[in-house]
Amino acid sequence: MRGLHLDRGRLSLRGDLPEPSPRPDWTVVAVRRAGICATDQALVRGYMDFVGTPGHEFVGVALDGPLRGRRVVGEINAGCGECAECRRGDARHCASRSVLGIFGHQGAFAERLALPTRNLLAVPDAVSDDEATFVEPLAAALHIADDIEVGPGVRCLVAGDGKLGLLCAMALAARGAEVTVAGRHAERAALLPPSVAYRIGMLESQPAGPIDRFDVVVEATGNPDVLARLPALVRPRGTIVLKTTTERPVAIDLAPLVVDEIRLVGSRCGRFEPALQALAERRAAVAGLVAARYSLADAESAFAHAARRGVLKVLLEP
Ligand SMILES: [Zn+2]
Ligand SMILES: [Zn+2]
Repeated sequence: MRGLHLDRGRLSLRGDLPEPSPRPDWTVVAVRRAGICATDQALVRGYMDFVGTPGHEFVGVALDGPLRGRRVVGEINAGCGECAECRRGDARHCASRSVLGIFGHQGAFAERLALPTRNLLAVPDAVSDDEATFVEPLAAALHIADDIEVGPGVRCLVAGDGKLGLLCAMALAARGAEVTVAGRHAERAALLPPSVAYRIGMLESQPAGPIDRFDVVVEATGNPDVLARLPALVRPRGTIVLKTTTERPVAIDLAPLVVDEIRLVGSRCGRFEPALQALAERRAAVAGLVAARYSLADAESAFAHAARRGVLKVLLEP
């Protein structure tokens, strides 16, 4: 099988990758399109010491099982099926899980992949292939609303206007929150719903004078220096949501969190169902985030393009 193989920072196109082996209760999927995400770029830099085929944002066609012939997307965490977390239906936190294209599981930058059948969801016709590749990151963005109240009247600041920041802003706006994005690329305001405010320079310097602090601040930059500034932007008893992992440890003064009783909430993957629904009902306009498409054979150029400053989503097609 053709696909990308990552080993010690080197990404190569191979024609001899093993086919995903059919297993009971798993489905083999022919990949149609897959998105390059910041995590994939981090894996290439050595994050997780991952060896194998990366890629976890995909849409494809089920080749067997009950969804055979249907267009599908798939939740990326595959649980053991037996532990307390799995029995609660929460494979995302199974201690023995594998994660598609990230940990112990061959990913989507290949012709075919396999996932537990229960992880797969059929994609409605109203959702295009390009849009469907955003289900995974959009699900992660919508997951904020699973843990904290972000409905109408809640003032939210999204720190960062990269792919994840824009998706978080779309997700929070879709829930009716009052959203401001603090970013660095003024032209990205046009990608956001009209109700979302956009501000430049907010994260770089200490605000002059008192500012109207936010109920919720979402960290979506992955930049450790930004993290340290966030307690000054959230109101007392407000919430900071951490959506990104940083590759190096962060030093942060925790005293303001105690004094102002600020909640710090870690937030990772979300359920796919609400994300697919938001796309089908046109409540999240993600197609504008696609910067370029490449074939797998041009993966090197695709990764180089994705790594350029200011580039949003680059897609790969097997
Ligand atoms: Zn991703
Ligand atoms: Zn488990």
